[in-house]
Amino acid sequence: MKNFFLLVLLFFVLFSSCSNSKEEKTQIYAIKYADSLYSSNYIFHDNRTEQMIPFSWLFYLLEYKGKTILIDTGVCDKAKVERYALQNYLSPPEILREYLLPSSPDYIFLTHTHFDHLGCVEEFKNATIIVQEQGLPTLLSSFPDIDKTRIHTFSDSFFFDDALTLQYVGGHSRDSSVVWLTSENETFLFVGDECYTSENCLNTIPVGTFYNGTKNLEFIRGLNNTVRVLYFHEAPSKKRVTRIT
Ligand SMILES: [Zn+2]
Repeated sequence: MKNFFLLVLLFFVLFSSCSNSKEEKTQIYAIKYADSLYSSNYIFHDNRTEQMIPFSWLFYLLEYKGKTILIDTGVCDKAKVERYALQNYLSPPEILREYLLPSSPDYIFLTHTHFDHLGCVEEFKNATIIVQEQGLPTLLSSFPDIDKTRIHTFSDSFFFDDALTLQYVGGHSRDSSVVWLTSENETFLFVGDECYTSENCLNTIPVGTFYNGTKNLEFIRGLNNTVRVLYFHEAPSKKRVTRIT
């Protein structure tokens, strides 16, 4: 009888440790909600060719320590979809429902408050929103009825914990920030629009639309090539949803 109880206890310990490790494994999904063309002089500083080049529109979903976190939210306003000639568009809440996440995320981290990053925040009403303090006026004017108790602002950085942080940069826009994540000895950088594409980051070309070009350039110069950069306007694959980890 005693052995039977020991066996049951062992089974319980093994089972619970397995389910914990599964829950705790960080998962990153890149979600592409549209494609378009975009002028090269917006993408690259000092570019005078004005070519229309392929441009994707993305946000990210993290499953992290039992919480679901969106990094940016994409565009929900159909007028913006037309104005920016977005092709292959599917609304972010629809993609999440269909592919990944039946319920509302727990958190939304905003890299900045441009329309294509904050556009769907009101579709996820239970999520706590983390935003750099200089983005607050735009967030409130874009969504005047938003529940303000959902919003948490930060100045220089926000530490979700030691491995997941938001860092203020202020190059691309007044409130522009990036997200750092360390998972299983790999460092990921969700770069917001401090680099639109890998060409900005890898060839040290500042972005063509900026609030403070010097801060943007300094940030790009400071990047170390061991970091895995994830972009919001360059897709990692042709798929709607790409699992990164
Ligand atoms: Zn953007």
